[in-house]
This record gives sequence, structure tokens and C-alpha cells, in this order.
Amino acid sequence: MKLVQLLGFYVLCLTLVACKKKPEIKQRGPHEFNYDNQGADWHDACHNGRRQSPINIDSEQATKDSISPINFVSYDVPLKTPIKVTNNGHSVYMHIPDTINGEKPYINGGMLTGDFEAIEVHFHWGSVSRKGSEHAINRERFDVEMHIVHKRTDFYSVAAAKLKDGGLAVLCIFLRASSDTDSEVYGLNNIFNQLPRLLKPNSFVSIFGELYLKDILGNLDTDEFYTYNGSLTTPTCNEVVTFTIFTDVLDVKRTHIEKFWALRDSRNKLLINNYRNFMPINGRPIYFRAGQQNIQTMPKSYLAMLLILSKTIIRFYK
Ligand SMILES: [Zn+2]
Repeated sequence: MKLVQLLGFYVLCLTLVACKKKPEIKQRGPHEFNYDNQGADWHDACHNGRRQSPINIDSEQATKDSISPINFVSYDVPLKTPIKVTNNGHSVYMHIPDTINGEKPYINGGMLTGDFEAIEVHFHWGSVSRKGSEHAINRERFDVEMHIVHKRTDFYSVAAAKLKDGGLAVLCIFLRASSDTDSEVYGLNNIFNQLPRLLKPNSFVSIFGELYLKDILGNLDTDEFYTYNGSLTTPTCNEVVTFTIFTDVLDVKRTHIEKFWALRDSRNKLLINNYRNFMPINGRPIYFRAGQQNIQTMPKSYLAMLLILSKTIIRFYK
């Protein structure tokens, strides 16, 4: 009898296992990613692509070229307010509205193939123990990297630009935490001051008052930069982005940067270290535009050397 009961129980167990619904394979949308593995577990182009971003830039490997500077057009015209700033669970981004003249601020020059209008500003940051820039120069990371995303003006929408080679242009600006309390960038303070109100994902605030897009660049020297072709640094990692990475760094108060570390993602975990691993360069050319200082340094040092040499020769023959 015991054996029959045991067999019955065994059959019941088998039936239950067979009837148990197979777990649904959940298709992950582009908005469902996280930074637990700094992007190493992302799929599709993020995994298979050959022109991915970010990268570490080796200054010795970069090709020095006579590239024109980036021109900023209507960056000095006030933006229509209010301006929406959002915690989207992956970053904090500011939507860039039209200027009061009804146009978008835009850029051209550099390695860009036309005019690119500004769409949004967002940030990548670290944590107490890690610096969070996405790009690095000679393996040096910075505390925060600001991305100003632009789309080519002849594309109707961002969605359309994301599908075309060269459809997007991103300006990368490094921020450095400074203990100097005078380190202020007025335009950025407008965003930093809102961070304590953006702790929860999908929360947003509105900025009022007068704001020019140039305000978020502070005194940044935009003369010198690296530029290369890469991808979005978040899923779906489309390989459509021309990056321009300025070598000058903005100093901002450490207390402002610390505000990023209190934000939460959609799992209610701390939204920290939202930067992707360096990706392979795969032989892509990286170009360098030297700023005025670096252009002038060489002839000046040659002149100084010639002066010393000529003085030595004169002394020798006296
Ligand atoms: Zn970004």
C-alpha cells in the first residue's frame, strides 16, 4: 500500500512539474537596462558592434589634424522656460527647448557633417569611491561627464537620426569635483540645485528664469578636443554618433557632485556609477585638434632655444 501511495505521489509531482507554466522570456526594452555590470551584459549592437563608445583615448595614438573649431550658434540666446529636468532612472537629463526666437541652439564645425541642433543635456557620474566619466584620456577618468546631445537638423526626429550614420553629435564635457567653494558654473547650478527634488525615478522639476545654453559651459575652453565616430553609450547602442571630447575640464563644487549619489533608479537602488566600460577602438581613427596654447607652445620653445644658442655662440666668439 505504501508503495502505491508513493507511486501516486510521484505521478502527481510529475504532473505538477509538467503543468507548470514555462517562465515567459521577457523581451527587454531599451529602457530596462542597468549599470550593475557597467554594460557588459547588454545585448544586440551593444554586444556585437564594432564602433562602440565610450573609449579610452591614448593621446599618443590620436592623429593631429587641422580641424576647424566647434561653432556654437544661438547658444547665447535665452531658452524658453520653464525647462524640464528629469530623473529617468538611468541619468538626469534636461530637455533643451527652443530659444525665445523659436529656433534650437545648434553647432557645426569640428568633424561634423552639417548643422546639429541641441536636444538634451545629461550626466554620467560615479560614487564616493569611483570617478564616473565614460571617456578617459590616457586612462584618466573624471568625476562626471556631461553629454550635450544634438541631432542633425535635416532629420525630422531623434528616432530618425538614431537610425542614420552620423545622425547624432554628442559634446562631452568633463567635470572635476573641487573643494574650492568658488568653483561655480552658473548654468549647471540651476540643474544641481534641483537634484534633491529628483531622488525618485521618473520624477521631474521645472526650471524657471533666464537660462542660456552657453551658461552650462561656464568658462570652458572649447578650442581643443578629440573627435571620433562611435555609438550611443546606452542601449540600443546605435553606431551613429560623432563625439567631440573637450580637453578642458570644468571645476564644480564637490558638494554639488555628491547630490547625484543620492538619486535612485527604477529598482529603488542607488543610481550611482552610471557609466559604461571602455569599448575596443577596433582601428578607428581618433583625431585631435590642438588649442591655441598647444599650437603656440612649440614655436615659442624653438625661439627660446635659438636665442640661448645664439647667445652661447656670440659668447664663444667674443
Ligand atoms: Zn550619455
